[in-house]
Amino acid sequence: MPVAFLGLGAIGAPIAAHLTSSDRLTVWNRTRARSEAFAREHRVTAAATPREAAAGADVLLCCLPTSVEVEQVLFGAEGAADGLGRGALVIDCTSGDPVTSRRIAARLAERGIDFVDAPVSGGVPLAIKGELTVMLGGEGAAVERARTVVGAFGKKVVHLGPVGAGHAVKAVNNALLAANILAASEGLTALVKAGIAPRLAVETINASSGASFTTQVLVPDRVLNGSYPRLFRHALLDKDCGIAVDLDRALGVEAPVLEAVKARMAALRAELGEDADYMDPFARAEQRAGVAIRG
Ligand code: NDP
Repeated sequence: MPVAFLGLGAIGAPIAAHLTSSDRLTVWNRTRARSEAFAREHRVTAAATPREAAAGADVLLCCLPTSVEVEQVLFGAEGAADGLGRGALVIDCTSGDPVTSRRIAARLAERGIDFVDAPVSGGVPLAIKGELTVMLGGEGAAVERARTVVGAFGKKVVHLGPVGAGHAVKAVNNALLAANILAASEGLTALVKAGIAPRLAVETINASSGASFTTQVLVPDRVLNGSYPRLFRHALLDKDCGIAVDLDRALGVEAPVLEAVKARMAALRAELGEDADYMDPFARAEQRAGVAIRG
């Protein structure tokens, strides 16, 4: 099955690496050097434009920062939609927004092309292992077809509803992640400043009711050992919080906590910059308090 993949960023590249056994994988990336390096490493083809990558593909996957870029690479100049034929399927692994995704799906449907949103969770480490959670939004036959593709990099693949449902669940998931990161950075910093051994504090919380993915996995792997790898941009997590808050607003759901999380994430984004990692709020809290959460 000829497959095209657009967007070889931090998580796009390890996802695409699981698709190299397809009959023909063609990749495209805005910065050409990245797609050429990927093509050399995996012995696949690098295309010059989204349209060229899409030409003749049965399935096209993309993994871009937001749905804005997805719509651009599909329908902009040299867009991928012009390269796809009727009956093709677009699988969008971007953590996108449901409203734009529904519009994209409608525009593709006019050309006889199916669309499934398929955002992922698990981060770069699970992307490398091919063990992501994949959240599907779309209609019956297209979703079943998408399952056969995303199974190459997904361990848990869940169909959540019509187009946009995957993106909605992903946004709320990430808003909860952001809430945990912000709260844990504030709380753990205070405990260390109070003189409590960081590892002991984290282990105790992890045996108690305040435990979360943040305290169980992220803090031990990235903060306690001071490694702070650069795997997921804070700006992208802030974008996800915005999508979650927009969902609440559109549905008239009161969301003072998520609104506060979003406001704090935006303020940190302005302070830390577009390239900051999503765990950098911990480093910032440490610096401000003059402590190190190590152990
Ligand atoms: P990165 O910032 O690492 O990469 C972004 C990719 O999009 C790059 O390939 C970049 O190209 C490309 N790009 C950026 N702007 C444009 C544009 N205007 N036109 C075309 N291509 C563009 O992001 P990630 O790979 O980390 O994230 C991608 C998506 O996956 C996001 O929606 C993110 O929220 C989501 N995600 C990320 C996870 C992670 O752990 N990193 C985990 C789960 C979801 P170039 O090389 O030229 O910059």
